Amino acid sequence: MTARIIAVANQKGGVGKTTTVVNLAASLVEQGRRVLIVDLDPQGNATMGSGIDKNALQKSVYHVLMGEHTVEEVRQPAKEGGYDVLPANRDLSAAEIELVQELAREARLKNALELVSADYDYVLIDSPPSLNLLTLNGLVAAQGVLIPMVCEYYALEGLTDLVNTLRKVRAAVNPRIEIMGLLRTMFDARSNLSQQVSEQLARHFGGKVFDTVVPRNIRLAEAPSHGLPGIVYDRAARGSQAYLTLAAELIARLEPQTASTEH
Ligand code: ATP
Ligand code: MG
Repeated sequence: MTARIIAVANQKGGVGKTTTVVNLAASLVEQGRRVLIVDLDPQGNATMGSGIDKNALQKSVYHVLMGEHTVEEVRQPAKEGGYDVLPANRDLSAAEIELVQELAREARLKNALELVSADYDYVLIDSPPSLNLLTLNGLVAAQGVLIPMVCEYYALEGLTDLVNTLRKVRAAVNPRIEIMGLLRTMFDARSNLSQQVSEQLARHFGGKVFDTVVPRNIRLAEAPSHGLPGIVYDRAARGSQAYLTLAAELIARLEPQTASTEH
């Protein structure tokens, strides 16, 4: 079995991409899945949030994209949580510029991941808040994209750009990519706006919208400063429970055969 590769992307900043990657990774591990996180953001938030010091890295995903090291040479175990990380730091912003001159520049990550595909059940790619060459590397490597979003006034407009980019990626470089799901994050069930945006989402994207919603929850925001996923830092918190439920929902969607035999 080869890994299911999922890019977590939204060019809008601060919508919960990194929080989703880290917590979903740890939640999938709890369900017995082998998981790798690829940090494709020069901010290195998924790296730090996994308890790995981005400033002390000898080797990072930058070297993988530039063809200087293999994934095997660069990956590290998360401090806790049981998954592996292909870490990143500010070096990665140089890759964006340097890659432009390279051959097959948008397929660098895809090719590098093929060598470790048998080591994992899931690869989760954390994307930066833009639609640049780094994000594109994630979208080319992935079979599906998971889109975290906050249900606010302009949320749907923002999705249009991403959907258009996906259409271009599908036509030009990765015909298999599909939207794996839309995840409502920092959700406030009492707000009318949340309800309205949810209805619009359902109209536009139907069954692609995950049933699971992640509530706004301070424990999820505190966890990264301890280098821990929320589900390790405070498992009982509502936000942590939501990510555990999301992992089960994702598995049921992507592995219908295992989900049905577990009854
Ligand atoms: P960027 O675009 O900068 O990479 P992002 O989309 O990865 O951001 P996060 O870093 O995951 O977003 O989240 C943005 C901020 O909101 C962080 O401080 C995070 O801790 C916090 N946060 C994320 N999800 C929640 C939540 N459900 N409840 C409360 N705070 C949250
Ligand atoms: Mg992020």
